[in-house]
Amino acid sequence: MKNDSLEKVAAEIIGCPLCKLARTRRNAVPGEGQVSAKIMFIGEAPGRNEDEKGRPFVGYAGKILDELLKKAGIQRSEVFITNIVKCRPPDNRIPEDDEISACRPYLERQIALVGPKIICILGRTAYSSLLGGKSITASRGKIVKNGGRKYFLTIHPAATIYNKAMREVLEQDLSKLANEIKRLNSDDNNKDKPLEDFF
Ligand code: SF4
Repeated sequence: MKNDSLEKVAAEIIGCPLCKLARTRRNAVPGEGQVSAKIMFIGEAPGRNEDEKGRPFVGYAGKILDELLKKAGIQRSEVFITNIVKCRPPDNRIPEDDEISACRPYLERQIALVGPKIICILGRTAYSSLLGGKSITASRGKIVKNGGRKYFLTIHPAATIYNKAMREVLEQDLSKLANEIKRLNSDDNNKDKPLEDFF
């Protein structure tokens, strides 16, 4: 889209009436990060804290993500964080297909503007919505390509809140993602190593 910008997308999301989540949200949550971000994290939907503040990943799951990013040596300035849908589903239910479809053009515009080197899918809903995948636990830790984009698959930080073993899994995955980013940064001229095709 000509003359598009992250600010323009965010302004449209904030006033968006396109699906029924507009009727129950307090604040839409467009996402945050630099247009120059190398990694785009895509989760499921805003939760209660995000809905209150209008910012992504500011609740307990976000705190876990922040801590693990820091441990992995990934700077927040390298990252753009958003969700499949930009408004909180009531009672944190899973977003419905019509809501995901209505919101998808915003996400596509954000991806086009940021042009991340890699998209990190957080959890099952983002996995099924973006790649038609079923089990994120079976596929996590993998890098796949699809439609000219490169994806890294991992679990949602919310899945690790009461599960220490899962938190270790997420920590390992983010460390692997950090290594991939280092590899991409260290030699942009390097031909990408062969990736596993998703389909
Ligand atoms: S979830 Fe997306 S499509 Fe639905 S109202 Fe919010 S911004 Fe609009």
